Amino acid sequence: MKINRAGAEASSKGPEEYFTGSVRVDMHFKATAPGRSSAGSVTFDPGARTAWHTHPLGQAILITAGSGWVQREGGPIEEVRPGDTVWFAAGEKHWHGATPTNGMSHIAITESLDGKVADWLEKVTDEQYAR
Ligand code: MN
Repeated sequence: MKINRAGAEASSKGPEEYFTGSVRVDMHFKATAPGRSSAGSVTFDPGARTAWHTHPLGQAILITAGSGWVQREGGPIEEVRPGDTVWFAAGEKHWHGATPTNGMSHIAITESLDGKVADWLEKVTDEQYAR
């Protein structure tokens, strides 16, 4: 058993190569092998979002605050609110983030495959985000 105490690990900034705008990540846990799940809270300022990416084994995001936008490749931008859960299938290209006017927080639950939780692709351009 391991208890991860709140605040024991410092918040980290979403790296610029994978995110647009101001994003904060607070990890809750990373399972030890053979477990491969992890969970973290991600907080996006208004206008902030991930780059396009995929997850080798999929990802669930549980919206906990604010209002956000999510989009899978080929689909419309969809608004999400606290209490909504979004499942991205393995290999499905997508992005998630805040709306232009409001911040958004979600808990992301992801499993790693060979130590990897995401494959990062190109940024979501302002034109794509404005749609
Ligand atoms: Mn994702």
